[in-house]
Amino acid sequence: MTLQPESKSGGRPTMLFAILAGAVFGVVFGLSYGRTMWLASGGVDQRLDRLRKTLEQKDQFARQADEQAEQAASEGRREEAERQRREAGRLRGHMVRIREEIQRIEALRARAAAVEQSWVRPIWELVNFCGVLFLRMLRLLVVPLVFTSMVYGITSLGDIRRLGKLGSWTLVYYLVTAAAAVLIGIVLVCLIRPGHGTDDTFAYVAPEVLAKQEETVLGTLLAVVAGSPGDPAGGMIPENILLAASETNVLAVIIFALVFGGALTTLGERGRGIIHFFHALNEAIMKIVHLVMLFAPVGIFGLIAAKIAESGGAAGFYQELVRLAWFVVTVLGGLAIHLVVLSFVLWAVGRRNPFTYLCGVGQALLTAFSTASSSATLPVTMECVEEMDVSEESSGFVLPLGATINMDGTALYEAVAAIFIAQSAGIPLGLTALVIIFLTATLAAIGAPGIPEAGLVTLVIVLSAVHLPAAGIGTILAIDWFLDRNRTAVNVFGDSVGAAVIDRYFGRPKPPSPTSP
Ligand code: ASP
Repeated sequence: MTLQPESKSGGRPTMLFAILAGAVFGVVFGLSYGRTMWLASGGVDQRLDRLRKTLEQKDQFARQADEQAEQAASEGRREEAERQRREAGRLRGHMVRIREEIQRIEALRARAAAVEQSWVRPIWELVNFCGVLFLRMLRLLVVPLVFTSMVYGITSLGDIRRLGKLGSWTLVYYLVTAAAAVLIGIVLVCLIRPGHGTDDTFAYVAPEVLAKQEETVLGTLLAVVAGSPGDPAGGMIPENILLAASETNVLAVIIFALVFGGALTTLGERGRGIIHFFHALNEAIMKIVHLVMLFAPVGIFGLIAAKIAESGGAAGFYQELVRLAWFVVTVLGGLAIHLVVLSFVLWAVGRRNPFTYLCGVGQALLTAFSTASSSATLPVTMECVEEMDVSEESSGFVLPLGATINMDGTALYEAVAAIFIAQSAGIPLGLTALVIIFLTATLAAIGAPGIPEAGLVTLVIVLSAVHLPAAGIGTILAIDWFLDRNRTAVNVFGDSVGAAVIDRYFGRPKPPSPTSP
């Protein structure tokens, strides 16, 4: 087998090591001082606010259950009435424990006030600032990079008819790998059954999640194309491309760049000047990405440390982890298996050494882990993949599209989470429901934008397709920030493997490398 050469740049291992060190330091710092930083950064008030909202929601759900019990009783549905009464009682039991928790957290107020006045506060602000700055630098580059790399990719194809083939095979890759991920998730969650005996006392469902309940799978997919009503910047076809770009609507920018690049290639001589202009622009932006990456070790440290601190440091994180331990094991196990599957695809179809490639895209995976956003990671993914000798035309086409629609980790997560919620609520799922979950999880992942916790919102669509309660999302909300990071890293690896696989068949032939046997 011919393996592709290792990285072009000798500085990459050092950089990867620095980023890894930043990430590890962020975890250690976050776990060690997170609790103090949480106290210093207004964590007590935020937690109290959330607990009070949860209490209100439980009260509202309990009253709804009472009403439904009464109605069922008046219609002679005795069993249903009894079930609703039990549910109301269960929810009121939760309310007692939430009140106790409120008292416990309120007792921390005095300590929090003292810490807020101390030196911890400026340190917390500095750590947070490093992460925010890095994220802003990445986001800043996304729109110009997507536009120029897409135009570059399309105009480099030479013959525009190749675009159809390239596009179809890319979509086939996205769909097949997403379906494999969902299948892995379904098999694991049915075997491990993590939902049995889940404690949902502190479950809270955000209003935007509840609002999504009305949406259908078809509606969501149509909104991906034409945006939601009254939103001129949304969807693949927005009313105003500048507005869409200003709101970082990556999919709209991709489609516009695709058509624009295609049109340029039909202009012959007259289009050549502007094509060269875009090629140079693309290279210049990639150089900026390179510069931004010099800040990555510090930025990644800041993002990870601040996030752990936000969740209450070691104590808060441990509490969440233990409560949902089997769910976390199922999701992480599924993601790990899918990583192996993708590595096999890379080896068998892309003809590359998976280990070398994994190390080569390591910076992108760590960035994905720390930002929880495929879109914000895109500049880094492009840089890594191109340094692994994937041609710019393949990466310029496959990666931006992949960052918005190819989300294997998210698809797997949605399937696992939906079945977990059914198991927790004691609702049995038949084969038909599993097939519906399989299809909707794959589609919902396509509809999810590459931003933090987007998968949690589109999960509502999967739940409503099989008539599961959206309130179940509240159970997994507390740990979602952590699982989101892991699934985003798998999403980005899926895109990177896609670029290598597609490049093997559609990229320009490369000169034989000295490492090839
Ligand atoms: N955060 C994920 C991503 O950007 C999407 C998700 O929430 O699953 O890829």
